[in-house]
Amino acid sequence: MRRFGALLAAGLLAGTLAACGGTETQEMESAQAFAMDTVMVLTAGGGETGTALQTAQEELYRLDRELSRTREDSAVSRLNSAPAGTAEDVGEELYGLIAQALTFSAATDGAFDITLAPVSSAWGFTEDAYRVPGQEELDALLTHVGADHVHLEGGTSVSLDQGTQIDLGAIAKGYASDVVASIYQENGVAHGTVYLGGNTWVCGGNPEGDPWRIGVQDPARAEEAEAYTGILRMTDGFAVTSGGYQRYFEEDGVTYHHIIDPATGRPAESGLTSVTVVADGTVGNGTMCDALSTALFVMGEERALDFWRSGAYYFDLILVTEDGRLLVTDGIADQFQPDETAGYAYEVVS
Ligand code: AMP
Ligand code: MG
Repeated sequence: MRRFGALLAAGLLAGTLAACGGTETQEMESAQAFAMDTVMVLTAGGGETGTALQTAQEELYRLDRELSRTREDSAVSRLNSAPAGTAEDVGEELYGLIAQALTFSAATDGAFDITLAPVSSAWGFTEDAYRVPGQEELDALLTHVGADHVHLEGGTSVSLDQGTQIDLGAIAKGYASDVVASIYQENGVAHGTVYLGGNTWVCGGNPEGDPWRIGVQDPARAEEAEAYTGILRMTDGFAVTSGGYQRYFEEDGVTYHHIIDPATGRPAESGLTSVTVVADGTVGNGTMCDALSTALFVMGEERALDFWRSGAYYFDLILVTEDGRLLVTDGIADQFQPDETAGYAYEVVS
């Protein structure tokens, strides 16, 4: 952890940006953290900026400690290693997050599923020890997968059935962005950006009075730092991207990525290469965006758009398809500028 401490201090000292807005000059400060396996970058201007950034960093490290599946002392690990069927006191925060995760499972017909943990491990995604498991092995593991194997008890306790384990990797960064958004609001931050690797939240527009510009990574050119399908302009809100390109391995010429279809136990083959969920918010709905971006990636274009049209949740979408199309839902079409050089066929969906 010493390594991360150095990065954190360097992040706080470095990166003071200045921008002019009319007659005022608004100072933007930045900070970094390495948590949840991700380089996180925060910027803030106006209000109690230093306190906001410092508190946010501390919270990101705390959430990493509590929600990690690989740290033995995390609340999630304690739950995963508790004897089957025993109620483990996980505290209100983790209880609430698990309860939300179960709600998203139900809402997405099981496409979102935090109990895929043993399946992710079988593919080696948890321990970075990649392998291709056989279908028999996957089928055996899938008997322990499903929201009905998680039992909530009395507001702070959770029990898991025999063989069931949870992994909050698909929702934790979104939740963390909600926590940081609250901290920014409590400290009166006027302009801010929070980038938690694929999970972005912005507030207040930039100090020049314009919306923030968020690049949506082109999955086909993921190794290039600034290769975008387009730019989303947003003043206050969340944009969360899930994509197979974010984590994968290759074996015998086949690519296997980290987003698992609970119906098969295998990397989802839904015809999508990325899903970005966009929602307005000065505070609090990164959790929803994160859960839905993962779920809709599994569901594929048709089911994802039906889900969007159902109005069950309030959000917009940017979908990139394997066959070279870039689909944007009409609620954000006027905020999105496709990059024509990326070569996608651009469609606005209503
Ligand atoms: P994200 O990047 O938010 O889409 O989350 C992907 C991570 O969530 C993976 O690396 C796994 O740890 C976990 N995961 C994989 N498939 C699913 C799924 N269908 N539902 C919930 N979590 C998943
Ligand atoms: Mg997610």
